[in-house]
Amino acid sequence: MSPDTRSTASDVAAKSTLFCPDCDHQGRYDSAWNRVVNGDAIHYLCPNCRATVTTRPTAPLEKRCASSQRVSTSGD
Ligand SMILES: [Zn+2]
Repeated sequence: MSPDTRSTASDVAAKSTLFCPDCDHQGRYDSAWNRVVNGDAIHYLCPNCRATVTTRPTAPLEKRCASSQRVSTSGD
């Protein structure tokens, strides 16, 4: 859909490509995998065998900010 993403695809292909340890399926992290959000993490599941390939935080910047400043949004 976005032509802009293809211009940099070759440059980041190695880093953005995930490999399934179970069935050797491979594909870009943002297109080929089933993503399941669990709390503050996103699990990337293989569409072929449903193995968990990797897990990434949903909002690393927000989590770092909250952790360093210990801001409480509930209460006050
Ligand atoms: Zn697999």
